[in-house]
Amino acid sequence: MKTILTGIRSNSVLTLGNYLGALLPMVRLANKHSKDSNINIFVPDLHSIISDVDGDLRSNIIRTIKYYLAAGLEINENVHIYRQSYVPAHSELCWILNCVATMGETSRMIQYKEKSKGQESCNVGIFDYPILMAADILLYDATYVPIGEDQFQHIELTRNLAMRFNHKFGEIFTVPAKTSDQIAFMGVNEGIRIRDLLNPEKKMSKSTKAENSKIMLDDEPAKAAKKIMSATTDSLAKVKFDMFNQPGISNLLQIESLVTGVPLQDVISAWAGETRYGDLKKKVAESVSGMLTVFQEKLAAISDEQVYELLEQGEKYANKVANVKLLEAQKAFHLR
Ligand code: ATP
Ligand code: MG
Repeated sequence: MKTILTGIRSNSVLTLGNYLGALLPMVRLANKHSKDSNINIFVPDLHSIISDVDGDLRSNIIRTIKYYLAAGLEINENVHIYRQSYVPAHSELCWILNCVATMGETSRMIQYKEKSKGQESCNVGIFDYPILMAADILLYDATYVPIGEDQFQHIELTRNLAMRFNHKFGEIFTVPAKTSDQIAFMGVNEGIRIRDLLNPEKKMSKSTKAENSKIMLDDEPAKAAKKIMSATTDSLAKVKFDMFNQPGISNLLQIESLVTGVPLQDVISAWAGETRYGDLKKKVAESVSGMLTVFQEKLAAISDEQVYELLEQGEKYANKVANVKLLEAQKAFHLR
């Protein structure tokens, strides 16, 4: 049985962009494959502490798991939900892999360069987290790791470490699928990029300061509607899907399609040639506030107890699987 592994950091509330671009596609993929694959959904809490956390990490983690459930994740015996720090093998294997990885290849990681840029002194976690990520993946023999393009380089690093290790010590790790196969598996030709509502040339990001730039999953539906109504558009007075020349309008059409489930092409046709942007905004504002109302109702109906129960089962499973793999790696180095 193949293993599909995914995680999402819980440092703050997620945006509509995170939901439509990452969470929802992942939930759909999990539901599609959970009959014949292991679906490992883990909360990378050790990755969280490489940067600031908004609020309390423990409650953020519980909320993130509720997000998956509210987004429609179907639970069966193949779906395993766990917290990284509750499976100590992640940190243990990370150390072993630290002794396999080179400074050269780790220093080349773009995420490290970007995240450390402008910081007078950055913590070692920011440098080392791709190696922890490799451990997260290799402990479970995961083949597919659905992630955004910003993480593709880390998958290549994981593959290189696994191959180097196997070459030296024998076939211990499953080498995850290469990037092009990961993309094919996810069934996307290009990633969804929801744009910033005020500056639609940029993508919507949770770390953007301006409140009206982004819709948060815990926004009051009426407040979210207002944000859509005040979104930046253009002065061309023609509804057309053209991300380059009309990113604001195109973003609204894209959001409308993803939130309602109507194919983008049909949304584009329905609005083609319309000149009143206000009408489009009103429709999108209704769709988004309607979606948030339903999502927030579902979220409120999920109890903490339900989440803890899933974590208890998931962490029991994860420790069992991960410890077997860790022991093999320890034996390779004659630690055991
Ligand atoms: P930050 O500002 O802290 O970088 P972010 O909103 O960019 O936050 P990440 O934590 O970097 O979010 O990414 C979480 C997941 O959400 C990733 O899989 C990423 O590809 C996806 N994602 C982030 N922003 C968008 C967006 N605007 N549209 C679609 N997907 C997105
Ligand atoms: Mg980001």
